[in-house]
Amino acid sequence: MEKKTGILTVVSGFSGSGKGTIMKQLLEKYPDNYALSISATTRSPRPGETDGKEYFFRSTEAFEEMIKNDELLEYACYVNNYYGTPKAYVQEQLENGKDVILEIEIQGALKIKEKYPDTVLLFVTPPSFEELERRLTGRGTESEAVIRDRLCRAAEECDGVEAYDYLIVNYELDSCVEQVHSILQNEHTKIKRKESFLLEIKAALAAYSKGE
Ligand code: 5GP
Repeated sequence: MEKKTGILTVVSGFSGSGKGTIMKQLLEKYPDNYALSISATTRSPRPGETDGKEYFFRSTEAFEEMIKNDELLEYACYVNNYYGTPKAYVQEQLENGKDVILEIEIQGALKIKEKYPDTVLLFVTPPSFEELERRLTGRGTESEAVIRDRLCRAAEECDGVEAYDYLIVNYELDSCVEQVHSILQNEHTKIKRKESFLLEIKAALAAYSKGE
């Protein structure tokens, strides 16, 4: 029987796009299909975050040791902190047939695509600039300078998006979850992902035609 290999999938998007919630729902709905990679970072945990759940929180020295030992699939510096994807877990899950989702920013995503061209890149956005502004403004408690800063960051967050494969416009959570699920299910049927299956069936047919 054909051995299923998982698809490496990268999800990026504006802060406030809802990408984290979409991925959380996708994993809850289809736990047998997907695994979420947990990144390592040198930033401090926010209230409510725990080591090994949202991130592996590491010192700069420990992170640099991981880089030196080639333990990361990619890493990037974002707002003065290191963020990186530990290699071992991703490889293990892909071999087990799960599609592994990395929720990372664009620099890291593009490095992954260069190294592993079969990666699927998804970018999540709110429906419009006005909606993004509304979501980043939050409850109206932030100063104008903070809001401006967030919107300028959003401009950087989409720099390079043309290299992505799919744009997910977040009008409504449930339909986004289904959209991501169907994109990935369709990806599995692409000819380039079926090479070993095709080789096997072609070899069997060739042997049959030769009367073996
Ligand atoms: P935050 O500090 O808000 O959790 O994350 C900041 C940014 O770092 C987000 O855009 C997030 O997607 C990105 N990020 C998280 N983990 C990784 C990673 O392993 N590699 C890269 N390149 N970016 C990451």
